[in-house]
Amino acid sequence: MDKCSFCGRDKKDTNLLIAGLSGHICDRCIEQAHDIVLEELQKKSDFDVNEIELLKPVEIKDFLDQYVIGQEEAKRYLSVAVYNHYKRLLQSNKKDNEDIEIEKSNIVLVGETGTGKTLLARTIAKMLHVPFTIVDATVLTEAGYVGEDIESILTRLLQVADYNTEAAEKGIVFIDEIDKIARKSDNPSITRDVSGEGVQQGLLKLLEGSVINVPPQGGRKHPDQKMIAVNTKNILFICGGAFDGIERKIGQRLNTQVVGYSASREKEQIDRDNLLQYIAPQDLKSFGLIPEIIGRLPVLTYLNPLHKEALRRILTEPKNAIIKQYEKLFMMDGVKLTFENEVLDYIVEKAIEFKLGARGLRSICEAIMMDVMFDMPSSDEKEINITLEYAKEKMGKTNIQRLKAA
Ligand code: ADP
Repeated sequence: MDKCSFCGRDKKDTNLLIAGLSGHICDRCIEQAHDIVLEELQKKSDFDVNEIELLKPVEIKDFLDQYVIGQEEAKRYLSVAVYNHYKRLLQSNKKDNEDIEIEKSNIVLVGETGTGKTLLARTIAKMLHVPFTIVDATVLTEAGYVGEDIESILTRLLQVADYNTEAAEKGIVFIDEIDKIARKSDNPSITRDVSGEGVQQGLLKLLEGSVINVPPQGGRKHPDQKMIAVNTKNILFICGGAFDGIERKIGQRLNTQVVGYSASREKEQIDRDNLLQYIAPQDLKSFGLIPEIIGRLPVLTYLNPLHKEALRRILTEPKNAIIKQYEKLFMMDGVKLTFENEVLDYIVEKAIEFKLGARGLRSICEAIMMDVMFDMPSSDEKEINITLEYAKEKMGKTNIQRLKAA
């Protein structure tokens, strides 16, 4: 009786047994082998670290422009930082003899929540095809305390890289809410606060580049878990935070500067409505980040609050804009979906009214579109136009608290 040479199943136990020169393979093994091939190919195409295509800053920014509206300054800073970072990587591969070592350019993005910090980092990672992970700094604690150890950041990066250490070592980590681990008081002699300075010290090790032993499954270290050594030298860290109230520190600094020494500054108009644009490293220090951390985050830039015009553009312009997504969903059912312009303005107005920002656009759209999405697939209509009247009616029935929670 013929058998599968891979799994050993008898012919009668298979649906199909294909004969080769000196063996057989059954349908199940073919499928399994096919999956393995796909997975391997995917891994290669996803994270082939030697194939990072080095785009010029202008090209990087062009790419970001397709997904992120506004935030010109942040995009320019990020484009240059990423360009230099990967140039540095390529150089360190070449091993030329020059002594000039290009330092890593980790980045801090300061801006209100929902202004596109995560989106920027995510888009950069998408462009580069490198492993990318987002971690929330608020869950990090010093080793030994309840919460996640700092190393867990690298565990996640390893996981998205399918435990390909080489790929993970060239990945990007977005650390969200970095402002939440600021020292609560400017007085360094205060008794250690668990979530603050200790975590910053721990983070420092990652940022400056060192070999860290990472528990591959995360969680608490326990003696028999085999550790994976990860070198963070070439991992790009992008930190984001709202830094609530930092405008006050910026304002104070600007005021003292004016009085202090430069009378000509007095004449320079300070745009009091958007102080964030003047942000400087010392403001992060006043906010409670330790100088060592600030030193390891040399690229500092800011994001603007999103006003009406920006929100309106976000609805329709990005490559995967929310409205485009609905149109596509309907198109898949053969239905042409259109929106009255007034509806789009209305959605923006509501997002502003409820202080939901860009994040709210989606939940408001969902509230308006839910019923029509429910009915459309079973109806014969080939064209649907969403009118202002319809949108208002649907919003009228929506529980605003639910929108806010979304
Ligand atoms: P943050 O990290 O600053 O809190 P996010 O990047 O997570 O904010 O933004 C939340 C969502 O809002 C994004 O997924 C995106 O859909 C939308 N958004 C925010 N800012 C922008 C922007 N500048 N351009 C396009 N979409 C944006």
